[in-house]
Amino acid sequence: MFMQPQIVHDRWATIETKSETHVVEADSMIDVLRELDVEDIVEIHLEDGWGARFSAPGYLDCTGWGVYESEASAAEALLEEMDCDCEACEECEAISELSEMARPGLASTDEPR
Ligand SMILES: [Zn+2]
Repeated sequence: MFMQPQIVHDRWATIETKSETHVVEADSMIDVLRELDVEDIVEIHLEDGWGARFSAPGYLDCTGWGVYESEASAAEALLEEMDCDCEACEECEAISELSEMARPGLASTDEPR
């Protein structure tokens, strides 16, 4: 199953515990905190930025969010995980879209902004 790249601008909460790190939209931070033992929480960090991950649509299957300062660097990070050059599949389509995002101004003439 091809995992779709997802890039979202939002406010992000990074919740670091003694054993793991959770990165979630700040809006849903409370849901994560409820599941945690207060004594295990080491640090909570809030930032605005571009979240990037892969997810399988219709499934709960997805990777964790990575947060980046720009849309371009978020796209670049996702591109590093992708590898196909058949030029006929969904993944190749996503790779070309992300490549345009990673190099704004160079590729497309129909910039949405
Ligand atoms: Zn392909």
